[in-house]
Amino acid sequence: MNILVIGRGGREHSIVMKLAESERISTIYAAPGNAGMQQAECVGIDEMDIEALVAFAKEEQIDLTIVGPENPLNEEIANRFIEAGLQVFAPQKAAALLEGSKSFAKEFMNKYAVPTAAYATFTSADKAKEYIEKQGAPIVVKADGLAAGKGVIVAETKEQALAAVDEILVEKAFSDAGAKIVVEEFLSGKEFSLMAFVHEHNVYPMVPARDHKRAFDNDEGPNTGGMGAFSPVPDVTEDHLDFAMKEILQKTADGMMEEDRPFTGILYAGLMMTEDGPKVIEFNTRFGDPETQVVLPLLKNDLDQVILDVMDGKDPELEWDDSACVGVVLASQGYPGSYAKGVETPELNEADTYIVHAGTKLVDGNLVSDGGRVLLVGAKENSFELAREKVYEALNQVENGKEYFYRTDIGK
Ligand code: AMP
Repeated sequence: MNILVIGRGGREHSIVMKLAESERISTIYAAPGNAGMQQAECVGIDEMDIEALVAFAKEEQIDLTIVGPENPLNEEIANRFIEAGLQVFAPQKAAALLEGSKSFAKEFMNKYAVPTAAYATFTSADKAKEYIEKQGAPIVVKADGLAAGKGVIVAETKEQALAAVDEILVEKAFSDAGAKIVVEEFLSGKEFSLMAFVHEHNVYPMVPARDHKRAFDNDEGPNTGGMGAFSPVPDVTEDHLDFAMKEILQKTADGMMEEDRPFTGILYAGLMMTEDGPKVIEFNTRFGDPETQVVLPLLKNDLDQVILDVMDGKDPELEWDDSACVGVVLASQGYPGSYAKGVETPELNEADTYIVHAGTKLVDGNLVSDGGRVLLVGAKENSFELAREKVYEALNQVENGKEYFYRTDIGK
């Protein structure tokens, strides 16, 4: 089998690493890939150059394509692959709207009684402000469309919420992605992520994970793409998972069928454990980053076989390793603000850890940084304590806060 993985981040490297364990695969291609993907042949095609990707997949007789990032989904990448007679594990645009439009997702959840925060949608700044004045704070303001994880403002005060409305609707900070906003009830509780392999009515959940979005220890500092994650999540009980499976994931897959928007791919639910049980904070329609980097190492099955089975309507009979996985991101100093690129990356060859590349490139044979999140150091052990110990043994070799920084409390 020949497989194509689309994307260039840590999530995609993790997918490539997992696929490389499968004996059935002859070549794994990654487009465009990154410098860490030694298990793949990287081809220099941008993830948004959909016609070139389709042409490549045809030319190389790719049997299965896995799409990592969200942006190409809204540009109909899955539709185009399917039209070309190619097998792709990703939702078509009509289904990817669950992530691509928050107002669509909210309306859908209301219609199908999927538990989520109360909300209202606005295109008028005045009306949104009136609503916020009535509701009070804390309250959450979200740009409707894809905003690279930056379109959500959790406002602790009314003033912050009103400023967020101006920023998105008036100043157009997220351009078209912010032509509409969702103003949402603030939910409190612990968060976790639950991803599932989905095809039409069939839903096969993975083990839960928890990511840490804030830049600094104790969940302080600005929001980032994610500074680390662990899996499974000890405070998420079997009851929570059963509830999330039945009331959230299954209802969503069934509802999408009902809407004539059949879902194929990874459905990711970002969930808040409220006093009334888990509620949806957001849906993503692809693997999470960095959750994937701590979830896939726990999957015992071959990933390609799981995907092929799911797409064939067969139960993939998922099996999970009974271990604990911890992954900590090494980021460029300054991220998520401005930071330097081209800085030599440290060698972290610590035994019993795995290194996932997120933003690296090779320059004259040297590995250098090429993004905000540069590497993830992960470990899979019998306990979280041990996994953490291994990860931080490796990261301790880096001077924290000089050229790079990392959080010291992931999985604590
Ligand atoms: P999102 O990009 O939708 O995942 O939102 C980013 C972060 O904002 C989430 O991980 C939550 O921590 C927070 N958030 C989003 N919606 C809510 C909400 N309704 N109540 C509380 N926190 C929220």
